[in-house]
Amino acid sequence: MRFSALSILLNGLRGNRHWSAHWRQPEPKPHYDVVIVGGGGHGLATAYYLSKVFGIRNVAVIEKGYLGSGNIGRNTTIIRSNYLLPGNNPFYEFSMKLWEGLEQDFNFNAMVSQRGVLNLYHSDAQRDAYTRRGNAMRLHGVDAELLDRAQVQAMLPFFDYENARFPIQGGLLQRRGGTVRHDAVAWGYARGADSNGVDIIQNCEVIGIRREGGKAVGVETTRGFIGCNRLALAAAGHSSRVAEMVGLKLPLESHVLQAFVSEGLKPFIDGVVTFGAGHFYVSQSDKGGLVFGGDIDGYNSYAQRGNLATVEHVAEAGKAMIPALSRIRVLRSWGGVMDMSMDGSPIIDKVHLDNLYLNSGWCYGGFKATPASGYCFAHLIARGEPHETARAFRLDRFARGYVIDEKGQGAQPNLH
Ligand SMILES: Cc1cc2nc3c(=O)[nH]c(=O)nc-3n(C[C@H](O)[C@H](O)[C@H](O)COP(=O)(O)OP(=O)(O)OC[C@H]3O[C@@H](n4cnc5c(N)ncnc54)[C@H](O)[C@@H]3O)c2cc1C
Repeated sequence: MRFSALSILLNGLRGNRHWSAHWRQPEPKPHYDVVIVGGGGHGLATAYYLSKVFGIRNVAVIEKGYLGSGNIGRNTTIIRSNYLLPGNNPFYEFSMKLWEGLEQDFNFNAMVSQRGVLNLYHSDAQRDAYTRRGNAMRLHGVDAELLDRAQVQAMLPFFDYENARFPIQGGLLQRRGGTVRHDAVAWGYARGADSNGVDIIQNCEVIGIRREGGKAVGVETTRGFIGCNRLALAAAGHSSRVAEMVGLKLPLESHVLQAFVSEGLKPFIDGVVTFGAGHFYVSQSDKGGLVFGGDIDGYNSYAQRGNLATVEHVAEAGKAMIPALSRIRVLRSWGGVMDMSMDGSPIIDKVHLDNLYLNSGWCYGGFKATPASGYCFAHLIARGEPHETARAFRLDRFARGYVIDEKGQGAQPNLH
């Protein structure tokens, strides 16, 4: 079933009773060419590109819950490619280009909205750092504009420009950044992969990995054994647990990241804005709710909920940026489990078994990476060599000392 203006019109005239399911609910087959563990954004995107671009269609995505139950349906929907370092910049720009054509490509409305991402600066030193980042972006062909205080104030009049501690001096703007409806991304990739023949097996947990010699020959699941020629791990916050099944210890820690949404308000924030003097970011949804978040909860956890100390911390940073926030009501908050790597950058690599591939370490920035991550992981699985934009995301970089520390924080996963 393809969406078109005509199909929407005809189905509307027939009372919308004839749409078919977007993907099948297949029984697992005994064996696949490729089994992907994790039906989040990255696992589904990998299956989509494997089947569409690389012609590998005998693929299963094994998901322990339902599609969208992980971080793909929990994030704050921000996309951007405003990176400084050469290891990151081309990859995230590749992702941005894929976002720009994604809805046409998978024939699904994911509400890709390039409404801009603005990072505020509050001191001369921070302005200099943002100038450097903006210049690096432009040298890589990525759009970046440095705005002064008057330009920011014209865009965002309700912010606190007189704050004694954190006066807003300006911001670094990427106009092509923005937001995308996160669960629609999972649905679009699932639908596209399914129509190419991929089996998406929900409510099926991988509980073990069977090895023979130097190979992974399949996965033990709650629905029985499923064999494969190649095994790909894309379990995000649970990567360490899944990798442990083959004795692989990853340089990752799992932490909770919370997000919040307020009651609906009249439009007053066009794009995404981040506070430069603390960790707080906000955008306004099409329904008018403010969608915001901040730091991760600073302890290791696999729970999809956080604690009140972080709620207070996020609210304080938000109020320093927009004093009127103290008068709005928060409708909902939730949490997701982040696979925080030691340098804040991801891992897309072939690992110690002959046919085992790893995709992890997305920290709290993996949503924007979804298309490129899926494409590059599929490239690695199909061709056996990394895609040119993902060459730096090797697992052994931690042993070799070639870390990609975008924030310059050192080996502190809770600070990236
Ligand atoms: C509150 C919050 C806000 C965020 N905001 C942003 C943002 O604005 N921009 C951005 O770029 N990123 C953001 N992120 C990060 C982003 O969501 C993640 O980095 C990204 O979604 C992770 O990849 P994924 O979609 O594949 O993860 P997931 O959707 O978590 O997929 C992993 C899947 O693996 C499954 N799984 C795990 N173990 C097993 C097993 N044993 N067997 C079978 N299946 C298993 C899980 O059930 C899960 O569905 C945010 C995250 C959170 C939680």
